[in-house]
Amino acid sequence: MTGSINKLLVANRGEIAVRIIRAAKALGIPTVAACSEADADSMAARMADEVQIIGPARADKSYLNVQALLGALQASGANAVHPGYGFLSENADFAEAVVEAGAIFVGPSAETIRRMGDKAEARRTAQAAGVPVVPGSPGELFDLDSALAAAEVVGFPLLIKASAGGGGRGIRLARDAAQLAEEFPRAQREAQTAFGNGAVYLERFIGRARHIEVQVLGDGKHAVHLFERECSLQRRRQKIFEEAPSPVLSAEQREQLCSSAVRLTQALGYQGAGTLEYLYDDSTGEFFFIEMNTRIQVEHPISELITGIDLVQAMLRIAGGEPLGLRQSDIRLNGAALQMRLNAEDPARDFFPSPGKVEQLIWPQGAGVRVDSHLYPGYAVPPYYDSLLAKLIVHGRDRGEALARARLAVEHTTLTGMASTLSLHRELLAEPWLEQADFHTGTLETWLAERRAGGVA
Ligand code: ADP
Ligand code: ADP
Ligand code: MG
Repeated sequence: MTGSINKLLVANRGEIAVRIIRAAKALGIPTVAACSEADADSMAARMADEVQIIGPARADKSYLNVQALLGALQASGANAVHPGYGFLSENADFAEAVVEAGAIFVGPSAETIRRMGDKAEARRTAQAAGVPVVPGSPGELFDLDSALAAAEVVGFPLLIKASAGGGGRGIRLARDAAQLAEEFPRAQREAQTAFGNGAVYLERFIGRARHIEVQVLGDGKHAVHLFERECSLQRRRQKIFEEAPSPVLSAEQREQLCSSAVRLTQALGYQGAGTLEYLYDDSTGEFFFIEMNTRIQVEHPISELITGIDLVQAMLRIAGGEPLGLRQSDIRLNGAALQMRLNAEDPARDFFPSPGKVEQLIWPQGAGVRVDSHLYPGYAVPPYYDSLLAKLIVHGRDRGEALARARLAVEHTTLTGMASTLSLHRELLAEPWLEQADFHTGTLETWLAERRAGGVA
């Protein structure tokens, strides 16, 4: 698995493909962009040293097509694959196939992906490492009777979660036994069709929790954390606005949370970048592990800004066999960073998808401003994929300065040709509750519902 990377295949698209190519270039590694036909004119295709077309637009024929990617690997002579996020990034069979083809998979071992990518199994692993989990069923449930029996112990309201779920999908709420009886078989069927795995489990629903996650890095022997991110502002269980560090943790709570994450990472002999997600109850100070993402995350830049560590470069170095070369005491928390996701969705029309052709495009500038995006003027956003257009990221000496920079950044951004969530961020940044960090995972949806009722949007 070790040996240095002499050419990297980027098995992804959009902003993350651009991000990976940038990191590889900084390390002097030549890159190959694996692109669908719909992405032949993408920014990643323009930036990479080579392009391999892997199939038609449809993701199942291109970015999810293992054989096509292995073909591109062979044809290009690349000896490593970076999977980005989404698509095949948490697919253990893909990681295995890459290694069997004699190449390096930039990420943890297939075994670790298999174990932590299965949420029920990840819960068991966390518990074994002494990390608290949300109260729930001991494991997967295969029939309604055992679900009803487990629910008596877990308590209502609860969530039915797909073991293989991700991206905010595969989660259903049940308020009582009758609703569980109705939703349980649906959840099983949906999990089977969406993820090819019908396994589900139950977890107590924690209504007023914050989503706080810890970024970790490991080289198989040593593991460190890069502090936490707060990602409570979500719509349909998908993050929209993220910040680092969490504005509500004391230094002592931060240490507790982050060291629990390192404990689990260390126990896994983890190699690469990963994220442990938790729910945090700020009325009691308790935190509960919910899942681990064994890949780079969309919101990784805010952790880079507060630590000065380039996570994607670190992933490439580790995959190339270099030791971490970082001690925990080397990693300092510097200031505060925020990330705003710009999606091609219209907030005024219930977030209806709005892909289109980029007309005017002006990104914000200035101290502490970073934009991660694959857009350029004249680029037609294809309708087939994730709606993420760009991430506006800001850094300040403290949260107040970061918020002020965020307000300037959204004011100085121009994107025409399609509706986007830029307008939503402008309004969010004017809210006193955002300034005061007075929110939980349900806050954004409640705010959106109130605005709809009030005729604002
Ligand atoms: P992050 O956890 O990095 O914030 P998201 O949850 O927004 O990332 O997911 C990033 C991308 O990966 C999204 O396009 C999402 O739909 C996709 N994704 C994540 N997990 C899965 C999964 N298990 N199955 C399908 N798509 C997934
Ligand atoms: P995914 O793999 O789709 O990211 P997660 O398990 O991370 O799924 O959950 C996504 C989001 O759903 C969380 O960020 C949180 O807002 C909400 N959520 C998950 N589990 C619970 C729970 N037990 N109680 C309340 N909300 C939850
Ligand atoms: Mg999650």
